[in-house]
Formats: sequence, C-alpha cells, structure tokens
Amino acid sequence: MSEFRSHMDQALDEARAAAARGEVPVGAVVVAPDGRVVAAAGNRTRELNDPTAHAEVLALRTACALVGSERLPDHDLYVTLEPCPMCAAAISFARIGRLYYGAEDPKSGGVAHGARVFAHAQCHHVPEVYDGIGAEEAARLLQEFFAGRRG
Ligand SMILES: [Zn+2]
Repeated sequence: MSEFRSHMDQALDEARAAAARGEVPVGAVVVAPDGRVVAAAGNRTRELNDPTAHAEVLALRTACALVGSERLPDHDLYVTLEPCPMCAAAISFARIGRLYYGAEDPKSGGVAHGARVFAHAQCHHVPEVYDGIGAEEAARLLQEFFAGRRG
C-alpha cells in the first residue's frame, strides 16, 4: 500500500470515529516532513459547540501546538472530504505543502467548488492539491451518515 493511501486510511478511521460520535464523518491527518503523523482529528462541531471545529482545523491546531508554530511548512494534510472555504483558508495560513483530499463536495467545498479559495490572488500560499484519494469510501461514509439521520 502506498504511503498516501495509508495516511488517507487513517483519515477515514477518524471519519468513522466522528460518525460514531454523531458528528458529520470527516477526518483529517497532518503528516510532518519526515513522514510522521503529528495530528489526526475528526469533526467535533457538536461536541464542542463550535462551528469551526472541522477535522482540518482541529488537526492543524494540534500539529501547530506540537511544532510550536502557527505555520507548518512542508507538512501534508490528508482529509476525507474537499475542504470548505474556512478550512481551505486555514490550510493556506498554515502553509501546508500538499493537500490530499478524498470525496469532492459540490455543496459545501471551497477548493474545486464554490469559493475556490486557492484560485484567488488574495490567497498568499497555495498548496499542491491532489484529489480523489479514498474518495469512494469517504463518500460512502457521508451517504450512510446522512441516510441514517433521515431514517
Ligand atoms: Zn471545513
């Protein structure tokens, strides 16, 4: 199994754990330049009563605290779903080197859809972006979660 696939598998585990907590199943993992996973998180907006507690934001906060810096140059972020505009901006502010995401999110995404945060001149750091990794499983978790809530 390739490295990027295994990191996405860990992000998917975080997404499953989020679903088990009743949170929208999205998971994120931050990987240091030496390949170590330095943070992993799933959504906790309900638990924390915090609309900013998306998986990406929580993982970035943990990684920044560990590194002791507001920036994470040459770190990679893996997330199971296309980041929303808020998270895309946070990823830019953190100077993440490479962003890998799974499922696309035409409804709320901010990378390939909607605000397309990285496409603007006002975005001062643009990561390399790789999409579609583990997308099927990421999309399935979301579909199951929302189908369960309806039923
Ligand atoms: Zn977000």
